[in-house]
Amino acid sequence: MPEKLTDVIAELVLANRILDHEGVMDAFGHVSVRHPSDPGRYLLSRARSPAAIEAGDILEYTLDSAPVKPPKVHLYSERVIHGEIYKARSDVMAVCHHHAAAVMPFCIAGKPIMPVFHVGAAMGADAPFWDQHDEFGDTNLLVVKPEEGASLARALGRHSAVLMNRHGATVVGGSVKELVSRAIFMCQNAEYQLRALALGAATPLHPGETRLAGSISLMPGVISRTWEYWSMRLAAAGGMPPRHSAKKAAPGKRKARRR
Ligand SMILES: [Zn+2]
Repeated sequence: MPEKLTDVIAELVLANRILDHEGVMDAFGHVSVRHPSDPGRYLLSRARSPAAIEAGDILEYTLDSAPVKPPKVHLYSERVIHGEIYKARSDVMAVCHHHAAAVMPFCIAGKPIMPVFHVGAAMGADAPFWDQHDEFGDTNLLVVKPEEGASLARALGRHSAVLMNRHGATVVGGSVKELVSRAIFMCQNAEYQLRALALGAATPLHPGETRLAGSISLMPGVISRTWEYWSMRLAAAGGMPPRHSAKKAAPGKRKARRR
C-alpha cells in the first residue's frame, strides 16, 4: 500500500471508479481506506456516486465515523459500516459496501455464496449472513447507527465478506487493491454460482483448494496485474479521474505565455 497520503487518496479514487465500472457499485455503494499514518482514522468520499469521485471529495473520519473537519457537504449515511469494522478489525485496511446485482439474489433468498471456481476463492471459504431485523426490528435497512455498524462487524467476524439480508454485501481487505480484487471476484463467483445452479449443481471448492487458490489470487503480482487490467478498462471507457494537481505556472512563465 502507498505511504504518502496523496497516493493513498489517488488509489482510493481509482478504486471507486473501477468498482463502479466493473459493476460492483452503481449510484450507491462506497469504499474506504484506513489512514496511512493514523490507524484511528479512515478516508472516505463525501456522499457522491463512485464514478464521479475525485481526490477533492475524500474526507477524513475518526473511527466513530465523525468527520475530522466540520463538513460543508453531505456525508454517506452508512459510513458507520466502515468505522465500526476498522474498530473491530485492526488487520483491515480497506472496506467496500455495495449492492451489486450479482450478490442480490443471494441476499434476498438468504442463500450462501460459496467459492465455486479457483479465482472465486479470493472471498474465502464462506461469507456470514447478517439480518438487521434480528437485532433491530423494523428499520429502513440502512446501517446508520453505530450499534448497527457494530452488529454488522460482529457478524463479519474474521471473515472477508458478509452478506446483508435484502440489502447487499460488505467486503474487507488488507489493502485497497486486495479489496478491489476480492470484491470483483466475489461478484464473478456469485454470477457463476447462480448459472451453475441453473445447470443443476454448484458445489464449493474443497477447503484446502479454497485456501490454496485464494492465496494465489491475492498474491502481490496477481493483484498488480488485475489492477492494471481494470485500470486500462476504466481508461478505455473514459472513466479516469481528472488531473487535479496541476501546479500553477510561475509568474515569469505566465508572462511568457501571454506574449
Ligand atoms: Zn447499503
